[in-house]
Amino acid sequence: MSTMNTVGRPTTPNAVETRPATLTGGRGLLQNEALIFEGDGWGKTGVDLPEPRGDASDLGDLVRRDPIGLPGLSEPETMRHYVRLSQKNHAIDLAIYPLGSCTMKHNPRLNEKMARLPGFSDIHPLQPISTVQGALELMDQLSHWLTTLTGMPAVALSPKAGAHGELCGLMAIRAAHEASGQHEKRRKVLVPTSAHGTNPATAAFVGYTVVEVAQTDDGRVDVADLASKLGDDVAAIMVTNPNTCGLFERDILEISRLTHEAGAYFYCDGANFNAIVGRVRPGDLGVDAMHINLHKTFSTPHGGGGPGAGPVVLSEALAPFAPAPWVVSGTDGYRLIEREEDEAVQAFGRLCAFQGQMGMYTRALSYMMSHGSDGLRQVAEDAVLNANYIKARLSDLMSAAFPDGPCMHEALFDDEWLKGTDVTTLDFAKAMIDEGFHPMTMYFPLVVHGAMLIEPTETESKAELDRFIHAMRALATAAKAGDVDRFKGAPFHAPMKRLDETRAARAPKLRWTAPEGSNLAAE
Ligand SMILES: *Cc1c(COP(=O)(O)O)cnc(C)c1O
Repeated sequence: MSTMNTVGRPTTPNAVETRPATLTGGRGLLQNEALIFEGDGWGKTGVDLPEPRGDASDLGDLVRRDPIGLPGLSEPETMRHYVRLSQKNHAIDLAIYPLGSCTMKHNPRLNEKMARLPGFSDIHPLQPISTVQGALELMDQLSHWLTTLTGMPAVALSPKAGAHGELCGLMAIRAAHEASGQHEKRRKVLVPTSAHGTNPATAAFVGYTVVEVAQTDDGRVDVADLASKLGDDVAAIMVTNPNTCGLFERDILEISRLTHEAGAYFYCDGANFNAIVGRVRPGDLGVDAMHINLHKTFSTPHGGGGPGAGPVVLSEALAPFAPAPWVVSGTDGYRLIEREEDEAVQAFGRLCAFQGQMGMYTRALSYMMSHGSDGLRQVAEDAVLNANYIKARLSDLMSAAFPDGPCMHEALFDDEWLKGTDVTTLDFAKAMIDEGFHPMTMYFPLVVHGAMLIEPTETESKAELDRFIHAMRALATAAKAGDVDRFKGAPFHAPMKRLDETRAARAPKLRWTAPEGSNLAAE
C-alpha cells in the first residue's frame, strides 16, 4: 500500500536536476506523508477517557461491536499529518493562483474575523426567529447589495454554488413557463459553444434539450445563428458575460432583445461578474436570472466543493417563482418566508434545508462593506488591468487567442505558438509547477485549441505579476529553444509526479482499502 518509495522519484530522467532523488521521498524540510491509514495508528487513541460506567445503550442490538476502522493519532501527530498534507497543496495564501474562470483572489482576514463572531457562528437555523434578528438583518443587507450591484429586483440566497444557482435559475424559468402554460412547447435551451460545462449540464438536468449556438471568429456569440435558433420552442438562453474567452459580449442588448421577443428568458452565467462589478448592472442588459459565485467575485474561500454560496438574482418576471426561504422586514423586525403560501404561492419550492451558507453570507457582506461601492468598482477595473498587463507582456512569445483589442479579466492564449516544439499545453502547465507557479486553466474554453486561460485577479501586486510573467517567459523561451526534457515528465520537483489524469478521472479510487490479509477493513 505504501507509496513512500515511489513518491519523490522522477518518473523520467530529468536533465534539469543534477542531484539524485532523495532517499526518503522528503525534500527540503518537507517530509513525505503517508495516508493516515498507512501509519501505525491502529489500536491507538489520542484521548484518555475513563471507560463508560456500563449504562445500557438505547441502541440495543444496533450497538457496534467491531472496531470502527479508523486509526487514532495523538494531537501532535494529528497536527503534523494535516500540516504536511497541506504543504503538498497549493493555496492562494502561498502565491498567485491564475486559474481562469475561477477568480482565485485573496480571502481577506477581516471576513474570517466577522464570520467567527458568535452572533453569526454560534446560532442554529431552528432557533426562534426573535433570537436571530441580527443574522436575518445580515441576509437582508446582503440581498440589498446583490440586487443593487446587479440592478435586479429579487435574489434567492440559498443556492450552494454557481452550478446550484444555475439549477435555481432554470427551475424558476421552468416554473414561469409552466405558469403561463408554455412549458410543453418550450423544450430547448440555447447555449454557446464556449459555455462552461455546467450550463448544458444544468439545462439537461432540468429536462431541456440543449442546442448549441455558434461563435464568431472574434470570440463572441454569433447573433445571426442565435436568431435563427430562437423560436417559440425555446425556454431560455444561457450566456456568460464577460464570456469564457475573457471578452465582453458586445451584442448583449441585441441578444436579450431577440430572446425576449421570442418569449424566452435570458439566463446569464455570472461567474465572471468580477470583471464588471460596480461598472455594469446585468439588469440593464436584460438579464432575467444570474448566479453570483460569492467564492469568486466576493472573496469567500473556494474549497473542496464547499461550503459555497451561489445566490441568484432574478428579474421582475421571475421573482415570484424564487425558491423559499427569503427574508422580509416589517415593523416587528425581520422574518423568513418559508412556505409556499401567502407571499410565496408561486415559489417553485426550496433548494436546500434551512437558509443557506451563513458563514459565506457573512464573509461576502464583510467584503462588500469594507470595499464600499467605489472599492468594488475598482476591483473590476484592476482585475481587467492586471489581465491586460499579462496579455501585453506575453503576446510576443505566446499566441493570444483573440489578439485584437483588450481582454476583460482573463488573458487567453492558444497553443499555436507551441507548434513544432513537441511541447503541449499540458507539458507547459506541468513545468510551471516546477517553477513554483500553479498552472492556469488548460484546454478550456473548448473552442480555443490547447487553451491557456489566465486570470490574475486584482489582488496580485505588480511585483507578483512580474514574477509570474518572468517565469512564463523563461518557460516559453525554453520550449521554443527545444529544451523538451524540461517539459516532458514535469513536474520533477513536486511531491506527486506526472499522473495518469485520464485514469484518475475515469477510475478514481475514493476509498482506502485494507491490504490483503489485514483485519483493518474500514466499515
Ligand atoms: C465557476 C463557474 C461555474 C460554476 O460555479 P461553481 O460555483 O463552481 O459551481 C459556472 N460557470 C462558469 C463560467 C464558471 O467559471
